[in-house]
Amino acid sequence: MKRRDLLRLGATVSAGAAAGLLQGPLPGASRRATPVPGMTPASKASEGIRARNIIFFAYDGTGYEDLATASFFARSLGRSPLHFENLLGMGRSGLMRPESLTSVVTDSAAATTAWATGQRVVNGALSMHIDERELVPILHLAKDRGMATGLVTSTRITHATPAGWIARVPSRGMEDEIAAQYLDFEPDILMGGGAGRFQAEMRSDGRDLLGEFRQAGYEVLRTPAELAASTGDRVLGLFSEGTRHLPFEVDRVNRGVESPSLADLTFSALQRLEGAGRGFVLQVEAGRIDHANHHNDPAGMVGDWMAAEEALEVVLRHVARNPDTLLIAVPDHDTGGGVTYGIGRRYTHSTPALASLHRRQASLEWLLRDGLPRNPDPTTVAAGVEEYLGLPLASRRAEQISAVLAGERPEEWDWGHPNAQGSRNNRVGHLLSISDETPPVQRANINFATGAHTGGFVPLVLHGAGATQGNLGVIDNTELFRIMTDALGFRYENPAMDPRAAREAETSD
Ligand code: ZN
Ligand code: MG
Ligand code: ZN
Repeated sequence: MKRRDLLRLGATVSAGAAAGLLQGPLPGASRRATPVPGMTPASKASEGIRARNIIFFAYDGTGYEDLATASFFARSLGRSPLHFENLLGMGRSGLMRPESLTSVVTDSAAATTAWATGQRVVNGALSMHIDERELVPILHLAKDRGMATGLVTSTRITHATPAGWIARVPSRGMEDEIAAQYLDFEPDILMGGGAGRFQAEMRSDGRDLLGEFRQAGYEVLRTPAELAASTGDRVLGLFSEGTRHLPFEVDRVNRGVESPSLADLTFSALQRLEGAGRGFVLQVEAGRIDHANHHNDPAGMVGDWMAAEEALEVVLRHVARNPDTLLIAVPDHDTGGGVTYGIGRRYTHSTPALASLHRRQASLEWLLRDGLPRNPDPTTVAAGVEEYLGLPLASRRAEQISAVLAGERPEEWDWGHPNAQGSRNNRVGHLLSISDETPPVQRANINFATGAHTGGFVPLVLHGAGATQGNLGVIDNTELFRIMTDALGFRYENPAMDPRAAREAETSD
């Protein structure tokens, strides 16, 4: 992306806002936390501009600290401030409380259900209560009203976040069923990874869903070239094999893993949806920031943040041309709790240490899966980490990583944080992030609190139709459902479940 283009985009968007194109408060947006007695909300809800289209831009597994780290990284690329930062000051913004029905820490399934249905469910469930009562996601409500619908993601298309907008299953792991429910629902756009769940030879029921989608009038696209050449209104784009997600951006760019970028997919989806007679609801998910954070891989994280920025820019151009579009951009929860910390006297090493992220030419996932042989010895580990991550590694760390890759989990090691033993990638990522023998400015000064999701509030921005400037305060993730239905001009109430009953059902599993 050229800097000139970025500047032009900023000018366009700001001019649109300044010209008053986006006036009128969003009805329902004042449904926030109970105000302090005696204080009145800054702006009262009233009739606002209806949205014709909604673009829900989901960031999976990231929060404020990542936003800061991504912003520092973008600055070193001459791409600062981030569009997300600009949005925080342009429309409505606030904080979102990302809980599930029975846990202060949500998983992605319960998180996407809260957005899509306005109800909290137990972790792992998709738009369905634990007693198997089905909820109606907003994409169904939109389709009933003649609107077009679409899902775009950098994960498998059957992964939790996109799935919750359409599928109703008790467990996010039921991805064969999710793919089948996609076909029953027939959204206009499905673009992401993970072709396996649509192929007869990989499905438990032997159904050839690719063939069935074709019969239903879909173009099935498998490569960037096919994506570029296709002109159909209904597409199923699956750009990775088996159960793989799309590549991390750092690997797509540096390791030559063939895939469309998230921006490519977003552009292509919006091009097809733009002409929809009654508007559309599109979810775009930057889905792998979460994975990088589970691995404690800061290069994977900032790379996918940059990919999200490029996709967000595509969206902002669309909103500038179509001011009747409401954009909601928000993470579903934070993951990892990674922070950029100060090092050196007066923290003078901090800035060059962060810049050392540029030395990383691969994700941790790629290094462990494709860049190293099986069960590498310590010397091979050290060579691979140096070559692909630009990290000189002390011999003791190389030995530990070699042992982890051989399947050992020595008890006596100080893992440093509560969930570092979660996955192999996370254990290695943790060992790399605490490589205290490495000269400080050669190692990114980013440390992670955990390999799991966290409960922190996440930044939320609304922009476009109805999103006049103002502070949303702290709102529940479920409020976004009501904000969307209000913007589209209807109300719908899905059934709630009592959290105590859900907890009982959960513990008697
Ligand atoms: Zn998530
Ligand atoms: Mg996700
Ligand atoms: Zn996650």
